[in-house]
Amino acid sequence: MAKKIGIDLGTCNSVVFVKGKGIVLVEPTVVAVALNENRILAIGKEAKEMIGRTPDTIIAYRPLREGVIADFRITQALIHYFLRKVVGDFWLKILKPEVLIGVPAGATSTERRALIEAALKAGAKECYLVKEPILAAIGAGVPINSSSGNMIVDIGGGTSEVAVISLGGIVASNSVRVGGDKFDEAIERYIRERYNLVIGSQTAEKIKIEIGTALPEGEEKKLKIKGRDLISGLPQIVEITSTEICEAIQGPLKEILKAIKDVLKQTPPEICADIMEKGMVLSGGGSLLRNIDKYISSYTGVPCYVAEEPFLCVAKGTGIVLEHLEEYKKSVIQKKR
Ligand code: ADP
Ligand code: MG
Repeated sequence: MAKKIGIDLGTCNSVVFVKGKGIVLVEPTVVAVALNENRILAIGKEAKEMIGRTPDTIIAYRPLREGVIADFRITQALIHYFLRKVVGDFWLKILKPEVLIGVPAGATSTERRALIEAALKAGAKECYLVKEPILAAIGAGVPINSSSGNMIVDIGGGTSEVAVISLGGIVASNSVRVGGDKFDEAIERYIRERYNLVIGSQTAEKIKIEIGTALPEGEEKKLKIKGRDLISGLPQIVEITSTEICEAIQGPLKEILKAIKDVLKQTPPEICADIMEKGMVLSGGGSLLRNIDKYISSYTGVPCYVAEEPFLCVAKGTGIVLEHLEEYKKSVIQKKR
């Protein structure tokens, strides 16, 4: 029996689902390339470890950072790497798997065709695409085929996608290039401006995860951070508070809020009423930011719930669709070899 594999190619992390096994792999969507020979040196965890440590002749980067599939060869290499890892080199040649991949809702038909071609060249027998917000909703347990409207907000690393779904299709949607990365950048900037302290993006992300919050909290959290003093150039330690981090990230939060409001404005009134009643569901790693649900519901007036294991929703969605292809066939964009 040919294997059925679902892949969530995220801007930060990729997650792979194998039918009959569940989620088998989570790795950073990072590639390392040798510039002079234009050769791919490493993918995934191994490539991520190279970020910030490479000589001039090598770059390690996140190819999907902006959410778009821009480089065909890199996309093919990524997919091939994941397929090989979960199927094995030998079986990949003999029993080509069927692959289901999530695509941004706003991807053009050319981008979608390129992704399918990349998957086929990477060893897939067949490639199905499903729009990411639909997969995220399915993975979050939302009954997308019902005639009542549902709203999903997926906050990833590089992008946030907002969609209203009814009868298995997208009724209104919006995507912005704002996600967890922008929170990290805002924290970096804030600490540089306020404390003359230079920190790296990994430190900024750690601060966000440990004490970040979308709304100020009664009890402030504190964290000592290490960085380099902008003036003396020497290492220094500063203590920062959750209230400061909350202030630092208001800019990107507002942009996500605006994207949500835009979608609510495009939504037909009947469906708006459904959403008012049921609330919207948040997915993606960015939705783990503390109080982001309260922030969104207080500024939109719509109740807001964070999905279980939000960073796995899209991959879980690929799994559910692969197991019930007939039920979800309306949402699938298919290409046979
Ligand atoms: P993508 O689908 O774009 O690859 P993910 O859904 O994997 O993105 O989410 C990655 C983002 O989630 C990163 O910006 C990461 O910093 C953020 N993130 C992960 N855990 C937390 C947390 N506990 N609090 C806030 N942000 C988090
Ligand atoms: Mg994602």
